[in-house]
Amino acid sequence: MQSITILGSTGSVGKSTLDVIARHPEKYDVYALTANTNTTEMLAQCLVHNPKVAVMLCEKAAEELLAELAKADLSDIEVRSGEEEVVNCVTSDRCDAVMAAIVGAAGLRPTLAAVRAGKRTMIANKEPLVMTGDLFINEAREHGALVLPIDSEHNAIFQCLPDKQVYDGVKKLHLTASGGPFLGREWSSLDNIRPEEACAHPNWQMGRKISVDSATMMNKGLELIEATALFSIDADRVEVVVHPQSIIHSMVEYIDGSFIAQLGSPDMKIPIAHALAWPSRVNSGAAALDITEIARLDFQKPDYNNMPCLFLARQAAQEGGALPIALNAANEIAVEAFLNQKISFTSIPTIIESAMIYLKDEAPTDLSAILNIDNEARIIAKRAIH
Ligand code: NDP
Repeated sequence: MQSITILGSTGSVGKSTLDVIARHPEKYDVYALTANTNTTEMLAQCLVHNPKVAVMLCEKAAEELLAELAKADLSDIEVRSGEEEVVNCVTSDRCDAVMAAIVGAAGLRPTLAAVRAGKRTMIANKEPLVMTGDLFINEAREHGALVLPIDSEHNAIFQCLPDKQVYDGVKKLHLTASGGPFLGREWSSLDNIRPEEACAHPNWQMGRKISVDSATMMNKGLELIEATALFSIDADRVEVVVHPQSIIHSMVEYIDGSFIAQLGSPDMKIPIAHALAWPSRVNSGAAALDITEIARLDFQKPDYNNMPCLFLARQAAQEGGALPIALNAANEIAVEAFLNQKISFTSIPTIIESAMIYLKDEAPTDLSAILNIDNEARIIAKRAIH
């Protein structure tokens, strides 16, 4: 029996994780659930999944949850609040594995705490990896934490690599990209795109931030940087391939000419089930893939000139240093401003670039330097918005 803590349980990945866990009560139980402010969803999850602990980042939300749980006669669930308590849930002896599914840099502290505590750590929350890169992976190695990728592309690559994750013979990694809702449109024609349009992904149901990232192609850019950290590979050996059907989730190319790909329905329950059970397999509950119904798979090269966010992310991946941190932080600010209708869709890369230009000579040597650059990039991006 594995006891799981889900960071960001009320989000899209968090809910899918609970769905998979509930299918296998003999294998998994929920130690702790954490969220930011969404008391209604957290209450519903407590009623169904009966965690030992529920943490709301926001103190007021925790008070509301406590009152609602008392009414529902569920006072045995311990309610806590604040980031320190989120961290305590992942480091607790009662937690065996952690699903990192908070959105954005806010997930950095608890996710890093999970690897430092040597926990089996399943990572959906890509932004902390983009920010900290090798530092994160080295911490995991030093503390004997098993890191399992949940992002469908990285999970696919993990599945296509040899069992012992020996990379001899690997020529390139190919990350597939659906292209998002605006594939085929000129970037310059997207000025008046509204948040609802950007969030309407053709193949995946996801949270709002990652949906906008998919629409700008920044999601693929963040994944490119994530891949270099997770698989210790240079950015020039990671290709992006546009594959609109989202059936092949990524591929590994070997020096002998072989390509190994992982296929499946576009459903996050598949990589989640894979990571929960690895090295075994469990039923994910995802719809079976009928390959004859799909019938054809298309691939095209990305047009970097028409995908400014992907262009900037490749630059950040290649040059390293402060650029991935600045890119990620400024992107979070710009996406939030777009969702709040303060800037246009096409302003997003302009704001990101302003932070990258300003911070390009900074050299992050440790976590505190990383956090300083992250903070500076947010200030620059906010200035560019107002
Ligand atoms: P959602 O927006 O759906 O959910 C985010 C979760 O994080 C919610 O539980 C939210 O709580 C919580 N949260 C938000 N802000 C904070 C904060 N400051 N501190 C603590 N918790 C917070 O996101 P997704 O599930 O879509 O994505 C989560 C992560 O997984 C992202 O990094 C994304 O890039 C990655 N990912 C997602 C995929 C998907 O299919 N959705 C696929 C691959 C990767 P509350 O509900 O209370 O606001």
